[in-house]
Amino acid sequence: MVTGLTGLAGQPGLAGQPGLAAPSVGVLALQGDVAEHMRALRACGATPTAVRRPEELDRVDGLIIPGGESTTIWKLIDIFGLAEPLRKRIADGMPVFGSCAGLIMLAARLPDPAAGQQTLGGIDMTVRRNAFGRQVDSFERDLDVKGIDGPPYRAVFIRAPWVDEVGPAVEILATDPGTSRIVAVRQGRALATSFHPELTPDWRIHKMFVDMVRDPA
Ligand code: GLN
Repeated sequence: MVTGLTGLAGQPGLAGQPGLAAPSVGVLALQGDVAEHMRALRACGATPTAVRRPEELDRVDGLIIPGGESTTIWKLIDIFGLAEPLRKRIADGMPVFGSCAGLIMLAARLPDPAAGQQTLGGIDMTVRRNAFGRQVDSFERDLDVKGIDGPPYRAVFIRAPWVDEVGPAVEILATDPGTSRIVAVRQGRALATSFHPELTPDWRIHKMFVDMVRDPA
């Protein structure tokens, strides 16, 4: 039975999965571009919900950690008592997607943290913050992303990190053709991008994540 799919007006749910209920996907709503991720999730047939407290985390089927500023996001995670609950749910296999600062939060290794900054882990990768340069160096790039169909994906990078190296369990989904750096990865149910798929109206990356939540193989 089709229940609660919320595709864009006049279109079928972009998730293209009629018959499956809308999964509840949290967006870590401490800092960063939360509203944009929620809009993208709705467009993909998921029900977005803001997560600020451990009880809210308990209720979601998957979680997005948005772009923003990873040092601030970490401080707020710590203040809100979310570090251990988040680490536990990620380790237990909750589907999680981190974009930009969210990718930094999912790194197992961060060689250049700010004072006191920690990550949650979840992906066996070494990440370099602000690797592409400062805000002024923000740019767009056409990427071939493994696992999405159709034309190249036009990715928006803003003070973006890149992935320096990955362990054997990590699948590389995209590299930036300009620098040959890794910019999208997946390990099990954890997905991360250096760029911001929530800032463009191309929902294919969110659709991939919502499909992971619907069918957490
Ligand atoms: N440079 C930021 C950080 O270290 C990430 C930038 C972004 O999320 N747009 O958190």
